[in-house]
Amino acid sequence: MAFFRDLVEVADRVTQVASRKEKIRLLAEFLEKLSPEEVPIAARFLAGEVFPEYDTKELGVGYSSLKQAYSVVRHASILPIAVQPLTITEVYRTLERIAGATGEGSKNKKIKLLQSLLSRMEQREIDFLLRVLFGEVRIGASKGLLLEAASKIANVPISDVLHAYMVLSDVGDVLLMAREKPSMLGRAELNLFHPVKPMLADMAYSVEELFQEHGAPLYLEYKYDGIRLQIHIDSGRVEVFSRRLNRITEFVPDVVEKVLGNVKAEKAILDGEALAVVDGKPVAFQDLLKRVRRKREREKFFRELPFQLHLFDVIYINGRTLVKETYSSRRSILQEIVTSDELLAKMKIVYEKEEAENFYKEALSENHEGVMSKRASSFYKPGIRGSDWLKLKSYDTIDCVIIAAEWGHGRRSGWLSNYHLGVLDEESGKFLSVGKTFKGLSDAEFEEMTKKLLQLKTREEGYTVYVKPEIVVEVDYSEIQRSKRYPSGFALRFARIRRIRFDKSPDEATTLGELRRRYLQKMQNKELDEEEG
Ligand code: AMP
Repeated sequence: MAFFRDLVEVADRVTQVASRKEKIRLLAEFLEKLSPEEVPIAARFLAGEVFPEYDTKELGVGYSSLKQAYSVVRHASILPIAVQPLTITEVYRTLERIAGATGEGSKNKKIKLLQSLLSRMEQREIDFLLRVLFGEVRIGASKGLLLEAASKIANVPISDVLHAYMVLSDVGDVLLMAREKPSMLGRAELNLFHPVKPMLADMAYSVEELFQEHGAPLYLEYKYDGIRLQIHIDSGRVEVFSRRLNRITEFVPDVVEKVLGNVKAEKAILDGEALAVVDGKPVAFQDLLKRVRRKREREKFFRELPFQLHLFDVIYINGRTLVKETYSSRRSILQEIVTSDELLAKMKIVYEKEEAENFYKEALSENHEGVMSKRASSFYKPGIRGSDWLKLKSYDTIDCVIIAAEWGHGRRSGWLSNYHLGVLDEESGKFLSVGKTFKGLSDAEFEEMTKKLLQLKTREEGYTVYVKPEIVVEVDYSEIQRSKRYPSGFALRFARIRRIRFDKSPDEATTLGELRRRYLQKMQNKELDEEEG
């Protein structure tokens, strides 16, 4: 039985020591001593998480509830020293009960439960818990360390641990496996109805670049501007998950019906994109999203925005995990099991530049976003953005996370309307600013955004409200510039929000490394243009 305060102590020591090796040693030493029940819980806490990533439970505790619970505790006369310290499991169970409190009176219940926790904690433990709840113990650096600790505990290569992390999607489950079944790490299989993070794509700027990177022939697919779906099938039962791993089956009965009628496989996990086409044109992404977010208007949306489904991958079939099969063999399996071509993402194998250009133009002329090129020999890497999949679009955007917002004035007074945009620094796990914008949102969106940001508020200074980095926005810009003003070292010129991406999670945001690559690439292209001109 381990105490929460011991976990906080380890977290502090890991932050204080400079050596990466020592950090890993400390984490491994601590996790090795815990019981099997405690290991996954502790690993998630150390990574700044409460529940597994595939679990959609939410605490539903806003800044105001927390403040209320905290102020009562701070003024209470009981001295925490006098009470029995909390165990890791006790803290977790209470958080589970907080998440479980829903409906009428739930806010008060949550506050009470939170008070019961805080009142038994020392200041250090409180600080740590608040950082976990407000997302400041960031993933990234610490998750990498935890995975290395798993490799040390299990005494297996880090590549085996990374494989397990990709298919299990949870740092807690990986640590448990490292402790209990270390030889399974390299062979971990996907589990049906237990979604994994989707594989992601990097950006390319020309057909030439696709040939350069992937070589001929190219496997090109249409890039649809819709909603990413992961579909799990087992003997007639179908469940559908969003890219944030939320279960959205009841929002997409038309997709379920299509899958049941046209997929010939007892068990499978499929990856694809859903979109609605009305009068020959794909429906704007913002409107599509309403279909999977608004419970009350569900029926209306089913009628007005019937979904088309375009499947582009299969990662599990009849007991076999396919993440280590090549894209070309996965695509063949997909084509074998899907009986209607309409349900497949349009794909073409092209050898020549002109053929590729034509396919790209054809996709744009049908009002799709562009094309995706997929390296024929590549494996499926859940949650990984890399050059195995390259997207070529007619416009350039990056995904930023809102890290703070300023109160507007004049026409925008009463709204949080000037947004500080952050990209993910992979090394520190922090979001670093690349600029601000108040452009691009409608009045209704300002209104919705203000409400959401206030729920995420962590502190307020002057007219700036700092928030938990949670909301992702897709941002247009004219140029990436070097900048001394922003901690990222870069600034976006003429940034403008193209759309709010509630479907994306903050760890999918553009990384600092990617921004740097884009900057260098654009600089290179500029030099070439100048030479040619
Ligand atoms: P982005 O959101 O710009 O990073 O682009 C990647 C997204 O494009 C994926 O997450 C999918 O939702 C979507 N997408 C559309 N068509 C395809 C396709 N043929 N292959 C893979 N992803 C696709």
